[in-house]
Amino acid sequence: MSEKMNYTLEDVIEEDMIEALQNGDFKVYFQPKINMLTSHIYGAEALSRWVHKNRGIIPPDSYIPMFEQNGFITMLDRYVFQKVCEYKQKWKGKSYEHLMISVNMSRANLYVKGLIDSLVRMCQEYDVPTDEIEIEITENMFVKDSGELISFVSKLKKSGFHVSIDDFGSGYSSLNMLKDVDADVVKIDKNFLDIGEDDLKGRRIIRSIIGMCKELKFDVIAEGVETNNQIKFILECGCENAQGFYYSKPIPIEQFEEFADKYSAILNEAVRFHFMNDLQSEDGKYQCAYRGEGFTFEEGPVKGTHAIHFPGGKMETNMVKIPENVLFSESYTVMFWAKPDELKSWTSIIYVKYEVGFFSFSPLTTDGICTYRIRDSKDVHGWYDCEGKQLRENEWFHVAFSYSAKEEASTLYINGKKADKQNNVPVIRYPKRILLGGDVFKESYKGSVSELYIYYNVKNEEEIYNIYNSYLD
Ligand code: C2E
Ligand code: CA
Ligand code: CA
Repeated sequence: MSEKMNYTLEDVIEEDMIEALQNGDFKVYFQPKINMLTSHIYGAEALSRWVHKNRGIIPPDSYIPMFEQNGFITMLDRYVFQKVCEYKQKWKGKSYEHLMISVNMSRANLYVKGLIDSLVRMCQEYDVPTDEIEIEITENMFVKDSGELISFVSKLKKSGFHVSIDDFGSGYSSLNMLKDVDADVVKIDKNFLDIGEDDLKGRRIIRSIIGMCKELKFDVIAEGVETNNQIKFILECGCENAQGFYYSKPIPIEQFEEFADKYSAILNEAVRFHFMNDLQSEDGKYQCAYRGEGFTFEEGPVKGTHAIHFPGGKMETNMVKIPENVLFSESYTVMFWAKPDELKSWTSIIYVKYEVGFFSFSPLTTDGICTYRIRDSKDVHGWYDCEGKQLRENEWFHVAFSYSAKEEASTLYINGKKADKQNNVPVIRYPKRILLGGDVFKESYKGSVSELYIYYNVKNEEEIYNIYNSYLD
């Protein structure tokens, strides 16, 4: 009997775990994943909490290692997975219905026969698409079971699940693993963020790791983001996604649903300029500035739209400067209507100077074509042109172009139809100057521009066609 009095937490845990699972004493908490550029939620990680009948909330670090040893973890992981399916089913019709939810899978699961099939069946049972669930596998596991894991991951992928490599950089797996593993996301371990402001090498390491992961076309998320300075730095490194106390701790379901509802709507998917006698964006957040004179406002291409008219002029005159931060994302879609009064070869309607390079759109370049050009100045051969039929004088055209950093592709659309696509177009970073109505090489643009929209994501052909078409209704 006296033995019982001296039970350690571990003994208690082992004794109570099965009963606790049956009683529903394990709760699933959610920690939001946030796009730092827009502050919207795009997913969450499900984390277990044991609400013990006598001891209150026991944190995972106190029971996970033991469950991993005694094998109980496979039951817990399965339970968490099922709970996630259950919640997701209840979310049908809510703004956060489709959020990607990630679930941790410990190593013991590797040896559970028919595991993946049974996860798929569970998804079917709750009517949850497998591609809205992400399986997190910690990098440490790749040290020992690299071969098995790589095939485990590809099976998960074949079943539609997303897969992330968790705690990346905390273990000793070989970097070559990244080459072989078919994962979608790399989660940068939170210990990396634990560095001083003047730890230059530490900062370079993070920057390089993020760069490498992006080079390999993984989505990257930084874990353990707690401060404003960390956000600034991680963004500078090219990583947009974060999970951390700065945004939210792991929270119980009711609280999470509130959070998700509040932040799931992408309120400002685009910065929109309507040129209704002013140079302000629709949301009032961005104000452009005149550089020159002779501008007027007029009617746009269709009833109810407005346009700004540029008088033309010598190089670097009579343009409008747009704040650089409208282009805060490496991937973007830019669209506008344009009606040139006269066409001069290589005059730009819009021009963006980057730290090393630029992009521009010219309504007429060589005979009979218009060009959306990306210039990467790091490379002497770095010219990437999407071409379409030239615009005509005194006629309105809808112009749209997009750049996808993930695909490394640029695409041009004229009047809602795809004109050209270029592949293997490298990312150029850090916009320094955005000019409307001209550039720094050629005479300025004479003509009108209406309905300038700058999206921070890539619109596909159908979406662009629909947007174009919505003007014609
Ligand atoms: P993890 O998978 O790396 O989960 C993230 C952990 O980091 C969570 O700890 C979370 O609370 C913590 N965290 C998030 N943001 C911050 C931050 O800004 N600062 C700091 N200091 N910490 C932050 P938690 O919930 O205590 O879980 C610890 C670990 O336990 C998890 O690490 C995961 O490996 C494991 N775990 C938790 N639940 C489960 C589960 O249901 N199944 C399995 N297999 N493992 C689980
Ligand atoms: Ca995790
Ligand atoms: Ca982690």
